[in-house]
Amino acid sequence: MQNLTVLGSTGSIGTSTLDVVARHPDKFRIVALTANLQVDLLFRQCVQFRPQYAVLLDEDAATRLRQLVREAGLSVEVLCGVAALEQVSVLPEVDAVMAAIVGAAGLRPTLAAARAGKKILLANKETLVMAGSVFMDAVRASGSVLLPIDSEHNAIFQALPQGYDGDLARNGVRRILLTASGGPFRDTPLSGLADVTPEQACTHPNWSMGKKISVDSASMMNKGLEVIEARWLFNASADDIQVVVHPQSVIHSLVEYVDGSVIAQLGNPDMRIPIAYGLAWPERIDSGVKSLDLFKVATMNFSAPDFDRFPCLALAYQALRAAGTAPPMLNAANEVAVSAFLDRQIPFLAIPRIIAGVLDALPVKAVGSLDDVLDADAEARHAAQQHIQRLGR
Ligand code: NAD
Ligand code: MG
Repeated sequence: MQNLTVLGSTGSIGTSTLDVVARHPDKFRIVALTANLQVDLLFRQCVQFRPQYAVLLDEDAATRLRQLVREAGLSVEVLCGVAALEQVSVLPEVDAVMAAIVGAAGLRPTLAAARAGKKILLANKETLVMAGSVFMDAVRASGSVLLPIDSEHNAIFQALPQGYDGDLARNGVRRILLTASGGPFRDTPLSGLADVTPEQACTHPNWSMGKKISVDSASMMNKGLEVIEARWLFNASADDIQVVVHPQSVIHSLVEYVDGSVIAQLGNPDMRIPIAYGLAWPERIDSGVKSLDLFKVATMNFSAPDFDRFPCLALAYQALRAAGTAPPMLNAANEVAVSAFLDRQIPFLAIPRIIAGVLDALPVKAVGSLDDVLDADAEARHAAQQHIQRLGR
């Protein structure tokens, strides 16, 4: 029996995780569930999974959940606030933590889980983009098992040799091919991107996901963040990682070896596959996903990414090469810009302009500690806000 904390249990990854968990009551027990403010859904999850703890970030939301839990006669302790997220990530009875909070908010509890030596199922890619060196050091120091849940990185993990030790060359790897669907605007000309709406940006052709990652997919910043994520997970350089646009999202990524062999992982575009892999690793369990129908897929296409229409991807490579505080600044500026776009304060094409403006304006510093990362994050958020205010004038 594995005891789990699910951070971000009400989100797209969180609900898919609980869907897989519910299929295997003999294998997994939920210790803690957490959410931002979705009281009703978190309550329904408490009824179904009977965790010991439920955490809401918002105080009023926690008070309402406490009342619902009492009325239902459940013995769930309802906690509130950022510190509680960390608390339920390091409980001695917890074996594994699903890190599925969106954005920078996921960093602290995920890092706490790493420091506590928990098995980590990492969906929150922002943790690695922001604090790659700090987080990977914590994983190594505690001996934590780190399993990538992002579908591409899960595919790469599966295609690399078992027990891969972080040395691509010694393992005969020539390069990593990171696939990208291209998002909803894959074939939209630059002129057509000027007035796209948040609704259009959030309508992904293959995947159903939270709003932030959906906009990131539309701008291809998601792929940029994933290049940085791959850098840390697999100790790869920017030059080792090639993005390949593959609209069908059936091949989730590939690893090419020096002998010319290319090993890919395929499957239906359903996050329950990498989630089930992470939950059961090194075994395999049923994820609830139906068989891949290759006859229905019939054809697969591949093309090079268009860096001119999707400057966010180029900005991410640039930040990765600049290293230090550049990736956390890229991430922070992107979070601020995406949220302003979702609030209809800025047009879609302002997202890369704001990020580029922030990266140009702020000096890159070395990262030695978590504080360096958090300082860079705060500075870049402030600069991005100022940039948005200037746009509004
Ligand atoms: P989502 O928006 O659907 O869910 C986010 C979850 O985090 C919710 O439970 C929400 O309550 C919680 N949350 C939001 N803000 C919070 C805060 N400030 N503090 C605490 N909790 C907060 O997002 P998602 O699509 O499930 O994505 C989650 C993470 O997984 C992201 O980092 C994303 O990049 C990554 N990811 C998602 C997918 C996918 O298919 N959805 C695929 C790969 C990677
Ligand atoms: Mg992905």
